[in-house]
Amino acid sequence: MKIGVMAIQGDFREHKQMLRSLGVEAVEVRLPRDLEGLSGLIVPGGESTTIGMLAREYGLEGAVRERVRQGSLAVWGTCAGAIWLAKEIPEFPDQPRLAALNIAVQRNAYGRQVDSFEEDLEIVGFDRPFHAFFIRAPRILSVGEDVRILAKHNEEAVLVQSGGLFAGTFHPELGGDARVHQLFLSECRNISPA
Ligand code: GLN
Repeated sequence: MKIGVMAIQGDFREHKQMLRSLGVEAVEVRLPRDLEGLSGLIVPGGESTTIGMLAREYGLEGAVRERVRQGSLAVWGTCAGAIWLAKEIPEFPDQPRLAALNIAVQRNAYGRQVDSFEEDLEIVGFDRPFHAFFIRAPRILSVGEDVRILAKHNEEAVLVQSGGLFAGTFHPELGGDARVHQLFLSECRNISPA
């Protein structure tokens, strides 16, 4: 199985390392042709406006949208990547993005004083808490009926799934615990890549 990491901007190297530590072939994705043969794509944390603008310019946004529509690619967005997947950003409705996952998000939602924090999360299906790092994290304001909440922080969703689409507002590529990556990989195994 081959998994891509969108390598336009942000901390894609950490995701690649995490995948490689799990024995998975990990490739960097910048252009539509890089999607060939992939079962899954991770969109990393970083700056969601930069990632969104360049993904549109490189033709990647449209190519990913088509693969998602076919059901031939699972996609997981972390932090800025979650913003890229979100159908709604009420404050920035025109920000370029995939807009495929039925959630509404607010960028940089935890304010300046507390713009980074750590938290032990209970994640559905995990037998012990997951230590999560939130860095200038967005907030998931609401989720659609088709979206399953896998983890919450202060009663708000921080990890969600709808079919092959996952979004999380924290950084599971930091800290050396690979369980969220493994969760995504288990979904990718159900995909027949294009
Ligand atoms: N604040 C970033 C944004 O809005 C996301 C933060 C992150 O990915 N660590 O794009």
